[in-house]
Amino acid sequence: MSRPLRADIDLDALRHNYQLACDLAPRSRSLAVIKADAYGHGAVACAHALADLAPAFAVATIEEALALREGGITHPVVLLEGVFEAAEYTLAAQHDFWCAIHSEWQLAALEATELSVPLSCWIKFDSGMHRLGFTAPEAIEAKARLEASGKARDLHLMTHFATADSLTPDYFRQQLAAVQRLAESLELPLCLANSPATLACPEAHGAWNRPGIMLYGADPLEGANEASRRLKPVMTLSTAIIAVREIAIGEPVGYAGRFVAKRPTRIGVIACGYGDGYDRHAVDGTPVLVDGQETVLAGKVSMDMMTVDITGIPEAEVGSRVVLWGMGLDVNRVAASCDTISYTLLTGVLPRVPRFYHGGRLSVVAESGVEASSTHA
Ligand SMILES: *Cc1c(COP(=O)(O)O)cnc(C)c1O
Repeated sequence: MSRPLRADIDLDALRHNYQLACDLAPRSRSLAVIKADAYGHGAVACAHALADLAPAFAVATIEEALALREGGITHPVVLLEGVFEAAEYTLAAQHDFWCAIHSEWQLAALEATELSVPLSCWIKFDSGMHRLGFTAPEAIEAKARLEASGKARDLHLMTHFATADSLTPDYFRQQLAAVQRLAESLELPLCLANSPATLACPEAHGAWNRPGIMLYGADPLEGANEASRRLKPVMTLSTAIIAVREIAIGEPVGYAGRFVAKRPTRIGVIACGYGDGYDRHAVDGTPVLVDGQETVLAGKVSMDMMTVDITGIPEAEVGSRVVLWGMGLDVNRVAASCDTISYTLLTGVLPRVPRFYHGGRLSVVAESGVEASSTHA
């Protein structure tokens, strides 16, 4: 017997979602964004599952890229923020990592580095996110310097949208127009679309798109777009009831007595807490599924446990299965109850939660030292 908390990862759903990103953008190629350990799903396992579909992957750091190489992934890997130190360029050239170049120091460092082969470079343009990237005149200069350096090949232009997921698209249109103008004058292929733009803005599909969250089945548009309703959840976080309590009217449950019983209440104590990555901001009323029926969190999230109201589910008992998000419970609804977004919940699942992989086309890999399982629980 072991603690029942687990994250089941449906690699067939991952493949389905990646294929949807491709089908929605038939003239683009799609980088599969698997930074932050594939948004908490396990980067090496997800990369293997997508290896025959995706021409290239994208990550945030060279450590993440090297972990893919160690895991046997031979595809090109884009470093979305480029290098953090000049010494990384040598490794990037050795391993065919494609580098974003967003600032003067990265450009100067590349010019000063001896390389065995030229690097694929993706010039990052700040079209309005105002986080990373060059202005238009700087991007024009960067292109000229990269070409003159002999250190770069396959130049691309990339930008990142600040508001592709909002319903007031003016700022989005402004960013799109700016990057399209620049790409035309520079004659460079474009890489623009994140998940929301992949799902809902065909005019922003470039030579390459960069879908991330949608690959994991979380809808960044929260149902506002028809295509996004075809996404399938990849991670199902589930556990079980480990104790049952009968609480009298007026009695509190858990830390600080946040929840107080307004009627005789049956409480199920479940094995999951913020020490597993569940968000402690979850309010009373946050949805959970117990034996397939929806009920709610009652009381503050503890480190290793949570308490849920099972008054309306009389058959619920010690051992009853509890789904925290995934199949049957949209992670966006849980995120809304935590005043956050699906991204933080998925990336926040901590290593102590064993991942079990299903489907896909790989020999099954389990992380966290737990034995692999190829059947659904
Ligand atoms: C993370 C990231 C993406 C993917 O964004 P999603 O909203 O998850 O699709 C795309 N581009 C860049 C530069 C990123 O950092």
